[in-house]
Amino acid sequence: MRDVLPEQARQWHYVENRLLKILLGYAYEEIHLPLLEVTELFSRGVGEATDIVEKEMYNLASRDGESLTLRPEGTAGCVRALQQHGLLFNQTQRVFYAGPMFRYERPQKGRYRQFYQIGAEAFGFTGPDVDVELILMSRDFWRALGVEDHVKLEINTLGSGATRAAYREALVDYLTPLKNELDEASLRRLDNNPIRILDSKVPATQALLNDAPKLPDFIDAESKAHYGELIGLLDEFEVPYRENPGLVRGLDYYTHTVFEWITTSLGAQGTLCGGGRYNGLVELLGGRPTPAAGFSLGLDRVVLLYGAVHVPQRLEGTECDFAAAADVYICVMTPALMVWAMRVADQLRLGLPGLRIRIHAGGGKLKSQLKRADASGAFLAVLVGEQERSKSQVSVKFLREETLQQLLSPEALIELLKNRAIATTAVADGT
Ligand code: ATP
Ligand code: MG
Repeated sequence: MRDVLPEQARQWHYVENRLLKILLGYAYEEIHLPLLEVTELFSRGVGEATDIVEKEMYNLASRDGESLTLRPEGTAGCVRALQQHGLLFNQTQRVFYAGPMFRYERPQKGRYRQFYQIGAEAFGFTGPDVDVELILMSRDFWRALGVEDHVKLEINTLGSGATRAAYREALVDYLTPLKNELDEASLRRLDNNPIRILDSKVPATQALLNDAPKLPDFIDAESKAHYGELIGLLDEFEVPYRENPGLVRGLDYYTHTVFEWITTSLGAQGTLCGGGRYNGLVELLGGRPTPAAGFSLGLDRVVLLYGAVHVPQRLEGTECDFAAAADVYICVMTPALMVWAMRVADQLRLGLPGLRIRIHAGGGKLKSQLKRADASGAFLAVLVGEQERSKSQVSVKFLREETLQQLLSPEALIELLKNRAIATTAVADGT
């Protein structure tokens, strides 16, 4: 579990806000969910035989002896909440959530024990238009971040529940005589979750799978039609994709469509976002049969990708720099001028929302204040002295340019900065 320190948090904030704006632009509605749920929700909803439930959950006993789990993913809790509040009854829902998830994994770059997901879920739609909506929404994420050339979409269909049952049987028949050649985890899965063997990262196991029965040969007509329409829509909207029959996803609850966005720019932890359709989940968790689809995105990895692609990390066309803690630094010549300086700061913040304005505190000579201004990364120093005060003006100095100091009223300064078309709101609110 790591700390996200200010320099990275600035970037994080920017990236997250961009993504949330897109979700809102599709009229998905935000929900907040608890970090703790009863353990059974995950063992049922995610599946006993998944990596998550088998070995990645943080469980704790509450005082009354109930077993609780720090949520390892968001979908099960989301279904639980909508169900509990009657929001899946006779209606459709499009919602999103954002927040930390917890899995006891081997930490490495892009893989943490506390990580942050943004997830979207749509309930009550049989699709595939909604499946495509989810894919288009995630495509828009990459565009908004300018990383679209660094990601690839993979898709597959898992068919209906019946398809999976038939395929499962065929796969077990094929693999059972080859038992001795399977890796340990896959051997265990042979009994409880054989389809997950397709997801194995062990090369020898992958080699065995070359001649295994193929899921596409088992897909029923209805699921084929769903998948065909999905592909038709992706073509219509010119979304490039690769069909990957080996794509099964880590969780148990998927049916029909599954997809993943991957990048090769981050080394091994390349999956940025994964999702699909899970028509069986609501019923599995005690609700009425409800078609559903969604995705979840790993924000830690997306922020890493953003940082890897945008070097140096200056937002194009703006003065906003992730290396900077402030945009404007106000220097106060004498303690007696503090109130006036604070008034100026007030006025600037009101006139230039989103601009990060830091006022010097703690006194000191102008020279040392300017040093602080420089260290903050600000592009502009505003000097407040007796002379300026007497004219209701301020002196301004662009710190990163060869321009002369100017004397201006705060109003004129606001106009000047607006005219420079500084998209400084970028860091503050992600526009
Ligand atoms: P992986 O194959 O990388 O373990 P997963 O299939 O377990 O991923 P999901 O449960 O589908 O992942 O979660 C959705 C997304 O959340 C992943 O695509 C990834 O970006 C992110 N994610 C999952 N586990 C972690 C983790 N431990 N640290 C950081 N991000 C993670
Ligand atoms: Mg995993």
